[in-house]
Parts: sequence; structure tokens; C-alpha cells
Amino acid sequence: MQFIDLAAQQARIRGSLDARIKAVLDHGHYIMGPEVAELEARLCAFTGARHCIACASGTDALLMPLLAWGIGAGDAVFVPPFTFFATVEEPALLGATPIFVDVDPVTFNMRPDLLEAAIEAVRARDDSRFPLPGAARERQLRPAAVIPVDLFGQAADYEALLPIARRYGLSVLEDAAQSFGGSRHGKKTCALGCHAAATSFFPAKPLGCYGDGGAVFTDDDGLAALLRSIRVHGKGGDKYDNVRLGINGRLDTLQAAILLAKMDIFPEEIQARQQVAGWYDEALRDIPGVVTPTVAPGNVSAWAQYCILLPEGARSRVMARMEESGVPVNIYYPKPQHCLAVFADLGYAPEAMPTALHVSRAILALPFHPYLEQDQVRRVATALREALA
Ligand SMILES: *Cc1c(COP(=O)(O)O)cnc(C)c1O
Repeated sequence: MQFIDLAAQQARIRGSLDARIKAVLDHGHYIMGPEVAELEARLCAFTGARHCIACASGTDALLMPLLAWGIGAGDAVFVPPFTFFATVEEPALLGATPIFVDVDPVTFNMRPDLLEAAIEAVRARDDSRFPLPGAARERQLRPAAVIPVDLFGQAADYEALLPIARRYGLSVLEDAAQSFGGSRHGKKTCALGCHAAATSFFPAKPLGCYGDGGAVFTDDDGLAALLRSIRVHGKGGDKYDNVRLGINGRLDTLQAAILLAKMDIFPEEIQARQQVAGWYDEALRDIPGVVTPTVAPGNVSAWAQYCILLPEGARSRVMARMEESGVPVNIYYPKPQHCLAVFADLGYAPEAMPTALHVSRAILALPFHPYLEQDQVRRVATALREALA
């Protein structure tokens, strides 16, 4: 059994993949070839977003809007502590101060009530009611942006988050790296009303290419134009007329071609993911000590991961036993961001973000992909039951 089986998908679409790749080899436009624009149009149609700017990775998709907004030193950027590093790395790379906002214990997404408390605390430079990094006490930071993450595939609570961001003048960047293909109240992620959304096409994500890739989505015409310039070294009228600082953030034509082939079956795969998650829910329901994932009302998850909670202290033994029975498992994420050495100078105590800390000790990701079969799900459940006994 594989944790994610990309070979099953490839076998299904090998013909169209080969044809798409051959077309690129034949026309030879490896950089910004016609497949890039075709993919952007396809992803706009799929999500309902007005603009799609394909780029080199999910990390660049986070970096580019922050660059466009001029985020830097003196800015406070609000982020969840329970996420992949890039969510926090990109604002920090630009010199902004990450302000951690703890997550909900059920969805693992940013808590809107705590976002408001964090903004108020930064404005007042008062950490008596909300934990702040040292930098936010020493100087007056400007609350500039918030990056909610749609963790494991389900959207954050944007109906609650967006009005708070609007009230305080924050730009909102949806980190949809794990939720592409999911939806909330009938609207696709990446088109949920945020100023911009970033997704990733890393091979293991719900929509993955065969290398690195990503995309930014926005409904804002001005921001889209800025992002297209930033993607190619801040180009102006032509690429040797640089009008701002940017990056080499282009998506390869070959990766766009591969994604176009995968888009043909992507809606069916999202459906299949619902089926597999349903089988898991059923198979794990009566295993004592196991908390299965909850999808919030209105959400359809893209199921980037199927993660359960175990009793704290049981995980390493359970993992060892499951690996012995041939069931691969993973931990996303073993360390919350506020506990990483790289952020030690922010001065957060581990207990400052109690939910992130607890979840990082209790979470376990089970094998998950759209081609998993029901008897394999039953095997995982049996292995888990035995490992916990
Ligand atoms: C994968 C991921 C990223 C980064 O995407 P890359 O394509 O690997 O650069 C950012 N945020 C989250 C939440 C992710 O899961």
C-alpha cells in the first residue's frame, strides 16, 4: 500500500499526458508557451476566479501577492501556527513579523475570534490578553495582512474572517495549497472573496504536476497585472524594461501541459476523494480513542490529507505498529510553527498556542488518494485497531 499512489492516476491518463508532452516538445516554447495561458483560462473557469497567474510553486504563489502589497519590515502578518512552513516563511522572508493566531481544535483552521484579539493586541502593543512576539511589544507594528490556511483540504471560516480583515484594513491571502478543488457554500476555494489566493501543484497536492508549480488567483485587475510583472523579474513593457523588483516565478510549459491532462479527470478525482473519506469515516467510527476528521457545514474538502487524532502519547507506538503491518503513515505537522528554531527570536512559549501544540502531538495522517479501494481502507482500519489495542 502507498501513502499517495500517483502511478494509478498516471496509468489512467498516460495517453493524454504523452500527447500533451509531445506537443510541447514539438513546438519548443518551454518558457511561457501556449499551455500556460490555456491552463490559466482553464483554472479560472474551474474556480470562478477572474484571474489566474500560474507560477513556479505554492511558495512563490504566497510570496508574489505579499511582494505586490509591499509587505515588509514593520508589518504584522497574521498566520496560523499549525501549517506548512511556507505560510510563515514568506512574510518573514520579506521582513514582516509573523503573529500567530491559534487554530480551531476541530477544523485545524485559524480561529476568527482569536484573529480579532491578535489584531487588537498588536494595535495596543499589549500582550497581557493575547500572546505576541517580542517585536510587537518593542515597536508599533502595522496590522497589514492575514494568511488563513485551508488545512488538509477544507476552507477556513471566511464569512467570519473577511469582515474582521475588512474592519482593520488587512489584505487577505488564502493559502489554498491543500484545498484546490474543494468548495465552501458552493463556491470553489481560490474564489472565496479574499484579495488573493495561493495554491500549489506539488506532486502530492490534490492537483499535482510532475515537479514544482503553483498559481495565484484574484478578482482584482490591478493586482493581477502587478503579479504578472512580479512573476517575470518586475518586467514593464518588455522583459528588459524592469520597473520593480520581482522574481523568476514562471511555471514551466511542460508542467502546464501535464496539469491540463490532469484537469480532464480532476473533478472525478475530487468526487472519488469524498467516497474514500466516507469509507474511512465508517471504518474508523467505533475505534476507541480515534477522532476522525470533521468537515465544517458548507465545506467540501479536497482531502489533501485524511488526518485523525490519537490520544497524546499513543502515537509513536501506533505508528511503529502500523508500519510493521505495511501501512504507511505520516505526521503533518510534528512541530507547530511557533516552536521552530528559526522563529525562536519571536519568543513564543510552546503553550502560547495550546491547540496547535496539542494537535501536533496527536495528529496522524493515513494513506489517502482517489484510487484507494474500500478493502485497503478496511486494512488500514484493522491495522489501526490492532495498533491501539
Ligand atoms: C505545500 C504547501 C505550501 C507550499 O507549496 P509548494 O508548492 O511546496 O511551494 C504552502 N502552504 C501549504 C499549506 C502547503 O501545504
